[in-house]
Amino acid sequence: MMKKVTFIISIAMMVSCREEKLSSHVQVQNDTVNTVSIRKDHILVTEPLTAAEQAKLKPIDVIKRLQEGNKDFVEDNLTIRNTTERVRNASLGQFPKAVVLSCLDSRVPVEDVFHSGIGNLFVARVAGNIVNDDILGSLEYSCKVSGAKVVLVLGHEYCGAVKSAIKNVKLGNITTLLDKIQPAVAVAKKDFKGEAIAENEQFVEEVCDANVYHSIDEIRKRSPILKEMEKKGEIIICGAVYNMKTGKVEFLK
Ligand SMILES: [Zn+2]
Repeated sequence: MMKKVTFIISIAMMVSCREEKLSSHVQVQNDTVNTVSIRKDHILVTEPLTAAEQAKLKPIDVIKRLQEGNKDFVEDNLTIRNTTERVRNASLGQFPKAVVLSCLDSRVPVEDVFHSGIGNLFVARVAGNIVNDDILGSLEYSCKVSGAKVVLVLGHEYCGAVKSAIKNVKLGNITTLLDKIQPAVAVAKKDFKGEAIAENEQFVEEVCDANVYHSIDEIRKRSPILKEMEKKGEIIICGAVYNMKTGKVEFLK
């Protein structure tokens, strides 16, 4: 039985679908609307998490699930989901298992990176995955109000915001944003032996890691709510970096 599914397909999505899951292939341009036929039994039918399921999850299990989902992404095992049905089923409430603070980089599709469907993840995005009052409020809402078990700060390689901070770019409101990455630049500079410049990939990586750690510190320092939840073992606050070449998310110690 065939089901006609029409949706906007990004190149990334097409690439991620395993060949046997598609009954036909189409050549697509960036951001164009296309129609493909997908066998109905090749669609992963799952429901968004319920409150009861979310309550049973332990933070450490959520991290394991994120890692398993990322393994699917890396191994090109993303599955077409029953998205339309999930949209309807999730309309009355949401009980996501984690909140990811990610950069806004278009090359880091967070839900895909963790092979996650509608209703499973909160995603807060801001250039350079920095922390400010509104982001903190969003993280607190995710965990304290909506029951998410993990706060994951996700940095990524080749981050434009990190590079701009290293270059000390001054431009409009970007300046204020980059100021929040400067502490990470300073920390990375301390022990770095090579050239501390944006053209040096190794240094950019060091700053990226330092920036993730800095955001985690800021969360703990500036959110007594999240700090307390972490102390009680209700949540885990952790960091990771997305590898642009492999798609792998490396969790930081
Ligand atoms: Zn970035």
